Amino acid sequence: MSKFVGAHVSASGGVFNAPLNAMAIGAKAFALFTKNQKQWVAKPLDEETIALFQENLSKSGILPKHILPHDSYLINLGHPEEEKRLKSLEAFIDEVNRCSQLGLDRLNFHPGSHLKQIGEEECIDRIAMSMNEALSVTNGVTLVIENTAGQGSNLGWRFEHLASIIERIEEKSRVGVCIDTCHMFTAGYDIRTREAYDATWAEFDRIVGFNYLKGMHINDSKPDLGSHVDRHDSIGKGKIGIEAFGFLMNDPRMDDIPLVLETIDESIWAQEIELLYSLQEKW
Ligand SMILES: [Zn+2]
Ligand SMILES: [Zn+2]
Repeated sequence: MSKFVGAHVSASGGVFNAPLNAMAIGAKAFALFTKNQKQWVAKPLDEETIALFQENLSKSGILPKHILPHDSYLINLGHPEEEKRLKSLEAFIDEVNRCSQLGLDRLNFHPGSHLKQIGEEECIDRIAMSMNEALSVTNGVTLVIENTAGQGSNLGWRFEHLASIIERIEEKSRVGVCIDTCHMFTAGYDIRTREAYDATWAEFDRIVGFNYLKGMHINDSKPDLGSHVDRHDSIGKGKIGIEAFGFLMNDPRMDDIPLVLETIDESIWAQEIELLYSLQEKW
């Protein structure tokens, strides 16, 4: 099997519950928060928690490279105010360290927002500076930049934004991207027909490069193409439609990376995972 599909599962009660929650829905990959995503500070992971996480992870049979931890929503590495950027950076470094403590090799984050106080270029500079600082004091974890819908002043909705950030990173072996299909679509990148799908991914490959693709968020979209609104829908029920997910499930360029559902109805995640696998052509 070459596709690893799962969902962003709950880690409530402790990170060690995440692999069990993934197993319960038949996931072969998953995402999780390693701390409360709405708070700045969390208590450090203790040895018992780490050991239990490892134990449950081996029960699940899921490999670290198929796990895509997500950082806190509070973090803005491109914050226009230096004091607030530094607060974000400190929290981000803690997130990176938590991933290494758990034996995980990548961390997914939203690049940042200029808050209409600085220009795009300056914000990109600040994001890259923060990432370089984080990379210089941590080890073994790849920083995975997520594309955004471009809602508000969020950067990272154009492939060029992602490429500009990567260009500024010194340790390029530790940078990657996560493409969210909903964000991609509402940012204006169509994938609904074979033709559109091929053209969009060719553009991605030309501007960013598939070698940087370290994970995906698999979501349908409530809003329309190019609306810049970030609202996910269940697979096949939104404006993207089922066909695009069929192209994706049969595309070897998405092999061996975590493909993570962040769809709105978690009670049907098991069915959505099954549905996605059913789209794979049998040979
Ligand atoms: Zn996402
Ligand atoms: Zn989203």
